[in-house]
Amino acid sequence: VQRTLVLVKPDGVARGNVGEVLRRIEAKGYTLVALELRQADEALLAEHYAEHAGKPFVRPLIEFMSSGPLVAAVVEGQRVVEGFRSLAGATDPTTAAPGTIRGDLARDWGAQVIENVVHGSDSPQSAAREIALWFPAL
Ligand code: ATP
Repeated sequence: VQRTLVLVKPDGVARGNVGEVLRRIEAKGYTLVALELRQADEALLAEHYAEHAGKPFVRPLIEFMSSGPLVAAVVEGQRVVEGFRSLAGATDPTTAAPGTIRGDLARDWGAQVIENVVHGSDSPQSAAREIALWFPAL
């Protein structure tokens, strides 16, 4: 079966969305195989966002992602990479469909970075790389 890396980003933790995000993952029928509240350091985040290196939003993104605790999880199920991205909705919370995590729980707060509650790996290859990075013991 497939696995994906899910992060409840610092905005989601600060706004009390952890339970709601986990509830949606479990309600959908996916399985949690790792779950941890942690403070991510900049080195880990620079690795995590390596594909965005050089883009103008990467610095504010790393600052935002290290601004407070986040929740990291490994979620398992058939086609869970695609399935969780569908649960999460579009990157921009203003246009993310109602019914999705981002569509229901986030909006544009006028910040430099798009604060959109969750991250989910974008392909099985990214998932394998990200899970090895966040949960090396798995
Ligand atoms: P994630 O990787 O977090 O699941 P995503 O795949 O929808 O989100 P990416 O394009 O990989 O989005 O961008 C990673 C994150 O960087 C976004 O979730 C958002 O927080 C931020 N971001 C992306 N594009 C921009 C932008 N143009 N301006 C500000 N922040 C951005």
